[in-house]
Amino acid sequence: MADASTIWLVKGRDRSLRRRHPWIYSGAIARVEGNPARGEVARVVDHEGAFLAWAYHNNRSQIHARVLDWDEDASIDEAWWLARVKEAVERRRDLPSLRSSDVCRLVYSESDGIPGLIVDRYGDYLVVQVHTAGVERVKDVIVAALVAAVSPKGVFERSDQETRKIEGLEAAGGLLAGEAPPERVDVSEGGYRFAVDIKTGQKTGFYIDQRDNRRYVAEYAQGRDVLDLFSYSGGFSVYALGAGARHSTLVDSSYGALGLAERNLAANGVDESRVEIIHGNVSEVARSYRDEGRLFDMVIADPPKFAQARAHIEKAERAYKDVNLLGMKLLKPGGLLATFSCSGAMDIEHFSKVITWASVDAERQVQILQRLSQSADHPVMPSFPESEYLKGLICRVL
Ligand code: SAH
Repeated sequence: MADASTIWLVKGRDRSLRRRHPWIYSGAIARVEGNPARGEVARVVDHEGAFLAWAYHNNRSQIHARVLDWDEDASIDEAWWLARVKEAVERRRDLPSLRSSDVCRLVYSESDGIPGLIVDRYGDYLVVQVHTAGVERVKDVIVAALVAAVSPKGVFERSDQETRKIEGLEAAGGLLAGEAPPERVDVSEGGYRFAVDIKTGQKTGFYIDQRDNRRYVAEYAQGRDVLDLFSYSGGFSVYALGAGARHSTLVDSSYGALGLAERNLAANGVDESRVEIIHGNVSEVARSYRDEGRLFDMVIADPPKFAQARAHIEKAERAYKDVNLLGMKLLKPGGLLATFSCSGAMDIEHFSKVITWASVDAERQVQILQRLSQSADHPVMPSFPESEYLKGLICRVL
């Protein structure tokens, strides 16, 4: 790639790159030679001109460049993108938790060597999320690569996340290849059936990252009266009831999500008498249960991302603490709390601390039985801690 632009780093600012962290912040860049278009691939060199990596460049974002390849001999052409996509798809084939599922994350951004690209599979359909200008430039190539690797019925785009603005991109969505998905796509996960709303559901339609955790949590659910807070389309409840929970109460503020939940529970043969579906704000519903003295054997709390960024961490701490404090108060002595945080800015140690604060205020003793992370098709790269965002704890609340 002889004609590529060159990004020169400030002396000493090559350290994180040498440890294979794939992001280059604006402050690390001394100068850019050539005039790379937004999203174009450039050569990254240290202050003496020694090669470090190939990266795509976008000076609108705080993260000025994201690494694609560490090998100087690589050429980031069409064949390169095809190979990266194919490798990512192939790596999903031997994951044990995917044996009984036709829904999974096929491409997980930096962890699969394609920063800015998410691809989820729902049965015969693929959903693509493009987060950066670097991927936007090669979207057609990526779609062709996906069609070649998976032969899907259709490829649909859901690039509607706010963060695209930072990259100078508008929201984008719609059909990219093949047939448009139906209103509800039926998928199977862990032996259960789920209807997914690809076009308007949350994220790309389903919380795939919780698949392995749904199974772990359900293993504790037998005979229990469950409260499923922030239930979305009922993933945790379907698994818990399938594993022999006595009853589950689902709470969510989205009518769309609860409509899907009702459908999913019925599709898995759950009798109506075993579920209660409540539309409402979790804090209000939980407070009213507390005031009524209603207690459960198991509380699952999987709230939305409270910390959008590190700057919001204190506010998020309070929000996580409040939810968990309420959850603990709604548990019978010895009951179980399965609690999650998908805020990347809060690591597991920090999250455990917040749980401790909640337990002190609730005047309950907590034992951690199991620590949880994201499903194996969302692999974590140790050189890139940002790739680990979901964490959970299964606790016994004495
Ligand atoms: N546990 C789910 C995913 C939960 S995502 C699963 O495994 O599929 C978070 C959910 O919280 C979303 O469905 C969103 O609609 C809901 N939500 C966000 N804020 C809420 C609030 N204050 N009260 C109730 N539900 C809320």
